[in-house]
Amino acid sequence: MRFVHDTLPQRVCFGSGEAAVHLAAQAAELGATRIMLIAAKPETQLADTIAGVLPVALRHDDVVMHVPVEVAERAREAAVANRIDALVSVGGGSTTGLAKAVAMTTGLPIIAVPTTYAGSEATPVWGLTEGAKKTTGVDVMVLPRVIVYDATLTMSLPVDMSVASGLNALAHCVDSLWGPNADPINAAFAAEGIRSLSEGLPRVVADPMDLGGREHALYAAYLSAAAFASAGSGLHHKICHVLGGKYNLPHAQTHATVLPYVLAFNAPAAPDAERRIAAAFGSASAIDGLVELKQELNAPHALADYGFTEDSIAEAAAAILPSVPASNPRPVTAADLERLLRAAQAGTDPRTAFK
Ligand code: NAD
Repeated sequence: MRFVHDTLPQRVCFGSGEAAVHLAAQAAELGATRIMLIAAKPETQLADTIAGVLPVALRHDDVVMHVPVEVAERAREAAVANRIDALVSVGGGSTTGLAKAVAMTTGLPIIAVPTTYAGSEATPVWGLTEGAKKTTGVDVMVLPRVIVYDATLTMSLPVDMSVASGLNALAHCVDSLWGPNADPINAAFAAEGIRSLSEGLPRVVADPMDLGGREHALYAAYLSAAAFASAGSGLHHKICHVLGGKYNLPHAQTHATVLPYVLAFNAPAAPDAERRIAAAFGSASAIDGLVELKQELNAPHALADYGFTEDSIAEAAAAILPSVPASNPRPVTAADLERLLRAAQAGTDPRTAFK
């Protein structure tokens, strides 16, 4: 075994019903006196329940998915104009993403309070969009200093969004097994993430108020993102990145839909990953485990449902091809990508898509 693994400098506070207490203590430890509280309009009420005792100097709710550059610029100007000394974000990946965009140019520390399972809070990856082009990069400056996880804040996340977001986390786990910097530490996180998601998500679907199910999903969201942050983007993320940016497809649902096809394509050439994923699901094979979980969750299954049309397949494949990571367990041609996208667009059974 030979590897080099960076562990990211970040504190994780986890406790259901404890966000307000953790937030107050962590903000005090950072010496924050003028906080910018970032929460999208639908999350404002959630933020109010936990931010009461913080020294909030500015509330900001101008949040847009994929962080358009003009939205980032407005938030940065507001932070500077209000002499902000710390950022607190309460919300999903879009809200965390805006806090990261502000931190990137101001150097302000972030305390992130996630309310979905997207996992952005545990990565140093930023994303900005200009027109239809999404640009991402890695900068440790945008890594939140502290994450405050409180599963009670995810209770209001609708079941369909919880499922899609949880499968976004599952995609981080699976893709980190063959990402460019895959290593045994990431793999251990990923396997535990898959196990915990496959326990938590069915419980959330059966009863959205099942706090234990939500805790399993949230704990897994952290593991998945930490694995992904270290391993880097594999084939799955490269595909979803192009689909999200170029065709404006919804982030979590796109990940949830595409993942089984990437797994079905790569697993035969990645026996270690295949074994680990199957063991984590407790299933006969990795793809069986994923397909069975998705059926149980009534999860998104066809890109056509989100407006991706057959006539975009060739163009999308051509756009993805140059970014296919050299680390992918098997070579990828434009024809492979077209086949994969055709199956994902139609939602055909991934187990037969490459036979
Ligand atoms: P999101 O943040 O846009 O949230 C989706 C919807 O759920 C929104 O309408 C939001 O208002 C609502 N919502 C969030 N929490 C809720 C709650 N507790 N109760 C009720 N409604 C709630 O979506 P997302 O999937 O969390 O994040 C997607 C974005 O995050 C994308 O832009 C993606 O690129 C980014 N992302 C970045 C990274 C990274 O490492 N940089 C990782 C994952 C995702």
